[in-house]
Amino acid sequence: MRLPHLVTQLRDVRPANPEEYISTWTEKDVLDGRVVDAWVIIFRTRGCYWARKSGCSMCGYVNDVAVEVAPHELATQLGKVLAVHKDQPFVKVYTSGNFFDDQEVVPEIRRQILKELGDRCDKVMVETLSHLVRREPLEEGLRYADKFEIALGLESANDIVLRHAVNKFWGLREHIRAADLAHEVGATVKSYLLLKPPFLTEREAIEDTVETAHAVDPYSDTISINPMNVQRNTVVDHLWTRAEYRPPWLWSVAEVLRRCRDVKAHVKSHPTAGGMRRGAHNCGACDRSFVSAIEDVSLGLGDRLDDLACTCEAEWRDLLELEGLMQTSADVGALVRG
Ligand code: SF4
Ligand SMILES: [Zn+2]
Repeated sequence: MRLPHLVTQLRDVRPANPEEYISTWTEKDVLDGRVVDAWVIIFRTRGCYWARKSGCSMCGYVNDVAVEVAPHELATQLGKVLAVHKDQPFVKVYTSGNFFDDQEVVPEIRRQILKELGDRCDKVMVETLSHLVRREPLEEGLRYADKFEIALGLESANDIVLRHAVNKFWGLREHIRAADLAHEVGATVKSYLLLKPPFLTEREAIEDTVETAHAVDPYSDTISINPMNVQRNTVVDHLWTRAEYRPPWLWSVAEVLRRCRDVKAHVKSHPTAGGMRRGAHNCGACDRSFVSAIEDVSLGLGDRLDDLACTCEAEWRDLLELEGLMQTSADVGALVRG
């Protein structure tokens, strides 16, 4: 079965109330060189148009595409989430899709969201696919917010990886066009990179992310390295449950960050489910110290990556050699343990 078809076969759509946003929380991020509270909002929309058609191999949002959300229902979600704002100066807006897709967020509601959030926060960030970036919504963002950022999921600069491992068909070219336009109007750009798409060995994954970070550096203000976390009912989940995939080692995340020290953009990583089986993890004993060091370097609180040590380093290094020799990207450790 081909990847674009397999993605749609594995999803498990969930019923949901269109008047309820999906989630909101506060996390640490950097604003003007300072660590601040960042407010994260995930609105419920009809979801990503690409997920409706096919979808990316790692994306759990494909399970959120069943519910139609009318503009007035999105406005209701906005009213509810504004009530829980607590002075965070930076807000990050996600929709399980694309903020600049007019079918998903109609222009009138998009303006309302930008105005209300711009009134409350110094910086507003929204996420969208690069080929949906246009001048008008960028200018709107800057009209309402002092600082406006677009977050673009590039994942990899390698078209073969995008097509055959991620199932995404927009690459560096579209990313550069969107980033240039954003910079032209005065917005900033955050580029998301995916560390270890399926079918890549650990070493290939490291090389792919390091190369991508350098390729996208001139067009990015921030580069966020997202180590794979295995989301349910996805192609990656399907492989993982059969020991045909292992999320990256935290050693690999540290290695990528070390090799990106020469990158001019702010490079960061906040491994989702870090230290857990579905997220980037090591042996278990050292995971906490790795996640903490990665968090610190991401927030500009000091670089302790060279001090990280554990006996599992030998296993990770063996794996880097072994997977190449065996010509496999399966979870060799799990297969050996049976
Ligand atoms: S990863 Fe992004 S572009 Fe891909 S299906 Fe999910 S929401 Fe859409
Ligand atoms: Zn360890």
